[in-house]
Amino acid sequence: KKVWLNGEILDAGSARISVFDRGFLFGDGIYEVMARIGGRFFYEKAHLKRLDTCLQKIKIDFDTRILTKEIPKLLQASDLFENDCLLYIQVSRGVAPRKHAFPHDIPPTVMMYVTPKILPDINSVNASVSIMNDFRWSRCDIKTTSLLGNVMANESAVQQGCYEMLFLRDDIVTEASHCNVFFVKDGTVYTHPANELILDGITRQVVLELCSQLNFEVREEGISKQRIPQMDEAFLTGTSTQIASIKQIDQHIYYTGDEIGEVTKALQHAFLALKNKE
Ligand code: PLP
Repeated sequence: KKVWLNGEILDAGSARISVFDRGFLFGDGIYEVMARIGGRFFYEKAHLKRLDTCLQKIKIDFDTRILTKEIPKLLQASDLFENDCLLYIQVSRGVAPRKHAFPHDIPPTVMMYVTPKILPDINSVNASVSIMNDFRWSRCDIKTTSLLGNVMANESAVQQGCYEMLFLRDDIVTEASHCNVFFVKDGTVYTHPANELILDGITRQVVLELCSQLNFEVREEGISKQRIPQMDEAFLTGTSTQIASIKQIDQHIYYTGDEIGEVTKALQHAFLALKNKE
């Protein structure tokens, strides 16, 4: 396995990062994941723009434009140029004596790798999900490598036999541990607004665009815990999850079998058409 580290392509086993890297000590870094499907990255520009925006939010100075010419080299070296895969990119603030405040004028540590991954045409998972109060911080819009809250929440979901953990803030569903969440009621599609309480997923943005193409009314409005049982459909979105129907949230069951709601299904098919076209 190859990794791209600070401009060099290395065998993963010989890649080295200092123990004083702030990514390691503080989780002081930003990451991005994008899918390569049929020989191109799905919404590459949007992913790289989000990386750039998040780096600016935490004042890491790194020109993401260099990645566009480095990524193909990594794909070639990994023998994955023609294959479907997931690309992971991480930029941490760099190496410095351990002090909380940002050190000045140090180069960031930049690392990328690709993993072979064939995403299904349509995600057939009908997910059972659990729900809890969000115990993470209030800057969920920053795609930070500090994922302990997300990791603990997802582990708890898995322990309960669930695919995902939904988060509540003041009884409103915001997002999930690695996905965004949508609801459907009487043909209207609901999702939490893109503020500091959620990560504005690229898949979320694509789904909102598809809703407008399919003439589904959209409200960027959070759904309260009390309204979950009144909803007709619910689904998750994310880069590797794509669009996954939600079968059950905690005690509330949407489907007893493997049926999938009409709006969710329509969006899954429109998403597939987009992947084939993109
Ligand atoms: N919300 C969180 C907390 C995430 O970690 C992710 C993806 O990793 C998403 C939402 C979905 O984002 P995207 O569709 O860009 O993968």
